[in-house]
Amino acid sequence: MTTRARKYIFVVGGVISGVGKGVATSAIAALLQAKGLRVTAVKIDPYINIDAGTMNPTEHGEVFVLEDGDETDQDMGNYERFLGVNLSRINYMTTGRVYQEVIRRERNLEYRGKNVEVVPDIPLEVIRRIEASAKKADADVTLIEVGGTVGEYQNVLFLEAARMMRIKHPGDIAIVMVSYLPIPSKVGEMKTKPTQHAARALNSVGLQADVIIARAEQPLDQKRKEKISLLCSVPANRVISAPDIESIYDAPINYAKDKLGEALTELLYGQPLKHDRSRLAAWEDFAKRRKHAAKKVHIAIVGKYFSSGEFVMSDVYISVIEALKFSAIAADAQVQISYIGSPQFEEGKNLEQLAKYDGILVPGGFGKNGVEGKINVIRYAREHGIPFFGICYGMQLAVVEYARHMLGWQNAHTAEIAPETTHPVIDIMPDQKALMQDKNYGGTMRLGTYPATLRKGTLVHAAYGRTQIKERHRHRFEVNPRFVAKLSEGGLVFSGTSPDARLMETVELPQAVHPYFVACQFHPEFLARPFAPHPLFSAFIAAALDHRAARSESPDATASKLSWQVTK
Ligand code: GLN
Repeated sequence: MTTRARKYIFVVGGVISGVGKGVATSAIAALLQAKGLRVTAVKIDPYINIDAGTMNPTEHGEVFVLEDGDETDQDMGNYERFLGVNLSRINYMTTGRVYQEVIRRERNLEYRGKNVEVVPDIPLEVIRRIEASAKKADADVTLIEVGGTVGEYQNVLFLEAARMMRIKHPGDIAIVMVSYLPIPSKVGEMKTKPTQHAARALNSVGLQADVIIARAEQPLDQKRKEKISLLCSVPANRVISAPDIESIYDAPINYAKDKLGEALTELLYGQPLKHDRSRLAAWEDFAKRRKHAAKKVHIAIVGKYFSSGEFVMSDVYISVIEALKFSAIAADAQVQISYIGSPQFEEGKNLEQLAKYDGILVPGGFGKNGVEGKINVIRYAREHGIPFFGICYGMQLAVVEYARHMLGWQNAHTAEIAPETTHPVIDIMPDQKALMQDKNYGGTMRLGTYPATLRKGTLVHAAYGRTQIKERHRHRFEVNPRFVAKLSEGGLVFSGTSPDARLMETVELPQAVHPYFVACQFHPEFLARPFAPHPLFSAFIAAALDHRAARSESPDATASKLSWQVTK
């Protein structure tokens, strides 16, 4: 394959955004990977922000952290999950990042005195990045997802890069447009006109779609397929029906049924490449296991970012949700997830409703809102023997909760909320303090992959089955080393630390005290994959299934579990 020219597929949006362009890109990538090709993916976000790290999650969704610490868009998470690879900084670009590099080079005299222009210098930098990511992955095919939709001012320079690449690499570029076909309720019929307009908008920037993916509530019928083909100048076999699906992981199989992989490889290689059956079968098997999972498990995610107006914003925790699904499927279970806003628990009210869940997960977060609610929830889970999994802020608040109620340090808090407290059990590290004083917020947390050492005989050690692990991080605060000895004496087990034992990476309670209480400072959700569920999520799901089974055997089990309650 390496002697072949590298191929590039641009994925652009037509009509409206939010119809699954990221999933389409990921699924096409997985489909081509199933043809034995080496595939990588690049995400382009048209905003000025250098990365997604400084954006409000309710507006932008989850910040997905890469191995190298880059804070990126949640689509990068989809690429990593679908492809089973680790991507890096070069696979993600924003308008801000591209301009920043061009300006840096200009200041360094790297343009040797010439006028530096928006066109062609900006698209040329975009192309340089795309080619660099292809080279880094030694990819046969690189997918480039251009954020937004055609016809917006914002992404014109990225489409210009696609146009210029077509000249530079004739025959090696394909353009896929993910469009949307509305079915207006009064009309009751699927409309192709917006797609026609989008195809024209693409023409007006010098590009022609090679493939149109027709997203809609329903499958595309033959009549509309032919209409789109004729009016948008795309052969009918390259107009792909993409109706709403139950699970995004069905997308590669659905595209395979429509022979999208054959159409794309024929376009790029002059002949359709055959599938590596076993790779496609892996997706089929995953879908089968998902549909036929026999057991049920009900998990509550308690966070603060759930509501935006009338809508539930589960996108903020998308990687956590996917990680729960993968581990549940591997355990032959369907996971039902309830999204619960923490502010309602602030006054210590409403906690009884938590008794019905098989497990409680408190994910990462920032700032003051809903914090006391989360602490109350953690206390409830601890005192009632409900399996608990805390991630990042979830771990920090578990330490605060334990310090307050088990060590009697009523003022215990994280310095993020109460910097003057007598017991800052979670504190900012000195290097982070300096950054804060300089108002240097962007990209300056403890970010990306760090190693940790797990203590033998602990729950985390049992979950991973080894003592050395590597996990991705995104936080500024840490367990304060000053209080570690006292907290340990008080019964909190620091089961994982940085290799130099300076930073606490995981905490847990002994099983004699609580059936499953585990929290980690890192974000394990970023490493969970459909075909490789994450050990900590799997251990949590297993504990939740046990808890459910125990309760259904004896309805009084919840009450008897109160005996775990350690009073002090
Ligand atoms: N706010 C906490 C910190 O900065 C936790 C961050 C997180 O949960 N990702 O350390």
